[in-house]
Amino acid sequence: MNRVRAAAPQLAGLVPYDPKYLPAEAYLSANENPRDVDAEVRAVIAKRIAEVPLNRYPDPLANRLRDMIAEANGLDRACVLVGNGGDELLFDLALAWGGPGRSFLNLPPTFSVYEANARLTNTRCVNVPRREDFSIDEEAVLARVAAGDIDFVIVTSPNNPTGLRAPVAFIEQLLAATDALVLVDEAYFEFSRETVRPLLEANENLVILRTFSKAFSLAGVRLGYILANPAVIEEFLKVRQPYSVDALSQVVGEVVFEMRARFEPGIREIIEERARVAEALRTLPGVTVYPSDSNWVLLSLEGADEAWQYLYDRGILVRDFSRAPMLEGCLRATVGTPEQNDAFVGTLRAFIIERNG
Ligand code: PMP
Repeated sequence: MNRVRAAAPQLAGLVPYDPKYLPAEAYLSANENPRDVDAEVRAVIAKRIAEVPLNRYPDPLANRLRDMIAEANGLDRACVLVGNGGDELLFDLALAWGGPGRSFLNLPPTFSVYEANARLTNTRCVNVPRREDFSIDEEAVLARVAAGDIDFVIVTSPNNPTGLRAPVAFIEQLLAATDALVLVDEAYFEFSRETVRPLLEANENLVILRTFSKAFSLAGVRLGYILANPAVIEEFLKVRQPYSVDALSQVVGEVVFEMRARFEPGIREIIEERARVAEALRTLPGVTVYPSDSNWVLLSLEGADEAWQYLYDRGILVRDFSRAPMLEGCLRATVGTPEQNDAFVGTLRAFIIERNG
């Protein structure tokens, strides 16, 4: 067989993103919505999809959906860009603001895709680790951007996987302290009920990332969007893939966005269940529960890897961070349906009882 020369050097040592999605009865590992879109929404989607021409390229900019999002956020079309999931827009960010000789400020532990994108684009990744309680080390971040060499920062609010939102007052301070582009990742903001949208007009360096994958039950469709000032959107337009949001996804997004009020009870249920799960977990001996503004609960316990296996053997898939840097001993459990949550808490309780003999 002929040989192939080595891939680009920045790929050496990079591990492909692995969501560790295994067959299970209760999927509590990927922060998805436990409820699929309801039958009525699905019926409207089916009808509209049947009318989509498949032989034509989609609208490259998904302008119908873009206009709906713009209007709902009190913005012009020029301030919105729709992408193939938030993931695509995060990669576009690294392409547009990163690159050789450029620097990204990361606040770990956080979503691992940010650092991977920096590596892929030969962007230097500067870490300002969170404090012991996972709060942002605000003074250290402000001091680091003051050096003037940071090109972009990502602040995740609420932060995945630790759970809490970033203080708005801190984001405001950060935006004022630097001309670096600050992306506030609001993938889970529907569960925290807090957004930095009001800061957009006064801060040209702010980008807000959102997704349809969580509150709107569309992880399978791949739709995300950014809100930013037009000059920033213009730069994203230069690097994006021309037809990344296919015609079917555009139609699904339009229907779901039109009918988004129907998702509100599901969001409320998740918020209520989050409190119930956290409270139940706090009664378990040896379990530390971290406060959460999102649709999961992060916890730590001794023997977390064994607990993960015990849960998985009983059909419950949660995310194992027990060997991840700064997250030693941690598991992340997405808030599921009340039944799934009961099964999760009950099974973890059984594990602890068995282990403690
Ligand atoms: N940001 C954060 C913090 C996330 O957790 C996720 C999903 N795992 C995303 C962005 C991207 O979501 P999606 O590509 O499904 O829109």
